[in-house]
Amino acid sequence: MSNYLQWAESQLNSLLSDLEQLVNMDTPSRNKVLIDQAMPFVIQRFNELIGGEVETFTQEQFGNQVKLHLGQGDGQILILTHLDTVWPEGEAARRPFRNDGKRLYGPGVFDMKCGLLQGLYAMHAIISQEKPKKNIVLFINTDEEIASTSSRRLIEEEAAKSDAVFVLEPSLGQDGMLKTARKGVGRFFIDIEGVSAHSGIDHSSGVSAIEEMAHQILYLQGLTDYSVGSTLNVGMASGGTAMNVVSANARIEVELRVERMDEAERLSQLIRNLAPKLDGTKLHVKGGMVRPPMEQTVSRGLFRDAQRIAGELGFTLQESSTGGASDGNFTAALQVPTLDGLGAVGAGAHAVDEFVELDSIVPRTALLVHLLKQYSY
Ligand SMILES: [Zn+2]
Repeated sequence: MSNYLQWAESQLNSLLSDLEQLVNMDTPSRNKVLIDQAMPFVIQRFNELIGGEVETFTQEQFGNQVKLHLGQGDGQILILTHLDTVWPEGEAARRPFRNDGKRLYGPGVFDMKCGLLQGLYAMHAIISQEKPKKNIVLFINTDEEIASTSSRRLIEEEAAKSDAVFVLEPSLGQDGMLKTARKGVGRFFIDIEGVSAHSGIDHSSGVSAIEEMAHQILYLQGLTDYSVGSTLNVGMASGGTAMNVVSANARIEVELRVERMDEAERLSQLIRNLAPKLDGTKLHVKGGMVRPPMEQTVSRGLFRDAQRIAGELGFTLQESSTGGASDGNFTAALQVPTLDGLGAVGAGAHAVDEFVELDSIVPRTALLVHLLKQYSY
């Protein structure tokens, strides 16, 4: 059992030097040029460490996605990663990679450049053994932080061919909990039409879109039900043109988060069928679910295996659910067993104080190697 711990330990300096280079390359989701400049480094390391097939999916607007492939046979194990971060160009120059001997810092180190490299090194460990009997695919997404619009179809295609999906998003909390349930996300845009009128001369002939909006906001917020994990948040509201005009237009943007698929359907339906409260106003609703919920049942078996392996490696592993979404939401919705949060242990995703616990890298990498071995041999 412990030989993979020793193996991961022997690779740690190499992984850290790769991580330093990768963190010091800015990769904002919306900057195709920078992402396409950073990706060759990952491919080069894949070629040097593993040597397998590399498939590139060219994108017009976002960075090109890449599929790293090892092994053969019928079945497939999918490892999901992303190279993009929420940080803008210049961030790495402002606060470059830093290792204080206990923690690692720098933009995207936790979410999720360290996890991506743990995946690469786990494949490296696998290839140093006998050839796996299944395909092992590591997919590198480039638009995960902006809802995976250009990559979703590719991820779903790979997931449909897979027996298990391991998502190398960061873990939850500093004791490294895995994510076995994630909320689904819906986004809706509601345009409200009223009838404009001069507020002094002709108040009674106007119908206020803003008054209608107020009714709708209270109704939407009121659909929140914490007992089943469903929340609605009107995050944006705007309307009107001037103080002395009964408003003819208003707009609400509302986000829906749900734990369960049936709730996603029920609430989406209610929002799509919103009816005006005031005579003379009209509602135009657009939008829908952008990520389905990842329900806990889909990850049951994988989590039990991960927990057992962790125990054998000498550490404990807990699970948790989160309101945040990832590409694991797509794969779990296809009913493909999905285990998320297998990447770095640390804290502060999307925050300037993000960090990775240095001494978690070796056990986490070893855990992934054992999971890959269990499912691909
Ligand atoms: Zn992430």
